Amino acid sequence: MFLVVSRFVPYSALAIYPFVIVKNKALATHSELLNHEKIHHRQQVELLILPFYLIYLLNYVFNLLRYKNHEQAYRQIVFEQEAFAMDKDLHYLNKRKRFAFVKWIHIKTN
Ligand SMILES: [Zn+2]
Repeated sequence: MFLVVSRFVPYSALAIYPFVIVKNKALATHSELLNHEKIHHRQQVELLILPFYLIYLLNYVFNLLRYKNHEQAYRQIVFEQEAFAMDKDLHYLNKRKRFAFVKWIHIKTN
């Protein structure tokens, strides 16, 4: 992982394999945040990078149409659900099974 600090990044942090871009130096030492981004790196590698971004975007748009709320649409992205659920466990990536994000896919019909 290559860590970059840029105040131009629109979020606290952004994972674009193999880079993690954080908004400021303080965030560069935030272990939970970095773990969150490393989980995204693992997801990206498993999906051969580009398909990850396509699925991420489609999942967001689908959620936005469903919930009509940015924060909820973002939080419900399957990759974010795994990352937010597991980022406090700093050993998670050592024990994580491949494609573990599928556990967070929930098909709802209503
Ligand atoms: Zn995330």
